[in-house]
Amino acid sequence: MPTDPSALPGRRTVLRTGLAAGAAAAAGPAASSPAAAAPPPPAAPADRVIELTGRLPTGAPDFVYLPVEVPPGVREIAVSYGYDKPAVPSGTPGNSCDIGIFDQRGTDLGGRGFRGWSGGFRSSFSISATAATPGYLPGPVAPGTWHVVLGPYQVAPQGLTYSVQVTLRFGAPGPASAPHYPAERARGRGRAWYRGDCHLHTVHSDGRRLPEEVAAGARAAGLDFIVSTDHNTSSSHGTWGPLAGDDLLILAGEEITTRNGHWLALGLDPGQFVDWRYRSRDDAFPRFARQVRRSGGLVVPAHPYCPYVACQWKFGYRDADALEVWNGPWTYDDESAVDTWDAQLATALREGRDWLPAMGNSDAHSDPQPIGSPHNVVLADDLSRAAILDGLRAGRSWLAESAAVRLDLTATGHGRRAGIGERLTVPADAPVDVELTVSGVPGGTARLLTDEGQLHQETLPADGTPATVRWRTTASLAAYVRAEVRHPKPDGTPGKGNSMGPDLPWGPMAALTNPITLHAQ
Ligand SMILES: [Zn+2]
Ligand SMILES: [Zn+2]
Repeated sequence: MPTDPSALPGRRTVLRTGLAAGAAAAAGPAASSPAAAAPPPPAAPADRVIELTGRLPTGAPDFVYLPVEVPPGVREIAVSYGYDKPAVPSGTPGNSCDIGIFDQRGTDLGGRGFRGWSGGFRSSFSISATAATPGYLPGPVAPGTWHVVLGPYQVAPQGLTYSVQVTLRFGAPGPASAPHYPAERARGRGRAWYRGDCHLHTVHSDGRRLPEEVAAGARAAGLDFIVSTDHNTSSSHGTWGPLAGDDLLILAGEEITTRNGHWLALGLDPGQFVDWRYRSRDDAFPRFARQVRRSGGLVVPAHPYCPYVACQWKFGYRDADALEVWNGPWTYDDESAVDTWDAQLATALREGRDWLPAMGNSDAHSDPQPIGSPHNVVLADDLSRAAILDGLRAGRSWLAESAAVRLDLTATGHGRRAGIGERLTVPADAPVDVELTVSGVPGGTARLLTDEGQLHQETLPADGTPATVRWRTTASLAAYVRAEVRHPKPDGTPGKGNSMGPDLPWGPMAALTNPITLHAQ
């Protein structure tokens, strides 16, 4: 995976030494005894500035590694970069180049050298023992060969000319930074339904919200938990400790952003980093999915049909624990994701393997994108990392547009009862009564669907008050039952299932449940 940059055309390295304010005032190695009338510490060397320039052609590798020799005595490494943006015809992608850095421990896939990534969101960053730009990991600036990594994910037909400036600032390292990881448990209400948004960004990737703003937004949205999922970095994990509380569980995660789609690693060990430098053809994804599962986390393909470059999911679903079928405001790609998810439910049941639970998350980056719209409502034994992940993994959850939407779905037959995500085992022809109660969706439409498609549709009260929809089936007729609640269409009509036509059949989703599976004994 690492590319030899010397093979790239037009690369040249200019090393020059410059003076920078502050460098001369920095203390030397802190070895002198305070009691001794020691001679003044030796002045730190002046900053060293290294310029790396080059040109990448169309067809450049996904990641380009630029080595930087870091000598002993560096207290901070600072990097800035830029690249040209030649005019391109309409419809042709222009230049776009991400950046990150690996330290002297190397650039091996899944190795230990990762020190941060800011994608295309920042033009500069710095790292020292004490602090780092969001997206980057503070810690020792150890001597050895570091690598700035460029990710030229769009290259114009004319090529991409880059310029990277690395400044090495010498001096004694400052005090080590200590991460403040969040607790793995909040107060909770015992076995109950808990609301949580599992896909959120901050300034640690391409969001504009500070972690404290995300935590405040989660509380305002009525959520019990969130998962922090900045792109391709673990740097936010150590900020959440003081922001979590008895009322809000915060779990560590990452959105792994590859060239063939994005996936969420949910409920990681705090500080755990998951590599992103592979495509579907590289066959590396299963290895990183296993890494996430080993620490108890979930692997969740995100927005599988998002039309942006490199955002469509191409890794398949065999290594997934759940699927994000609803991402942010309801759009046509979410319809496609729900269809894909629904299609694999019956297959999984036939093959006797676990079906893939659906998830919904806001993917909120910045104001005014609302945190918690949508979110997951999960039946869990406790408000803890392990219990919430268990509930999501089992599909004991439904997806809500907001905390104003309330819903309950049960199936009862042969003296037994099952809820969302559970299995009801009954004689094949025994009546099974399905009951859906919804509130908070004025004028909405409740839909009950099975492996045959929509079998029942009913309009909800115009004032959003609770309504109960009842429908009867059997295990011989339905392998599973699930519910959707839709808003009216833009023209105010309710939408109509089992029909064809040029218009979209439904308004936006307000709620969607995971299935209750029916098993003929
Ligand atoms: Zn994404
Ligand atoms: Zn995202």
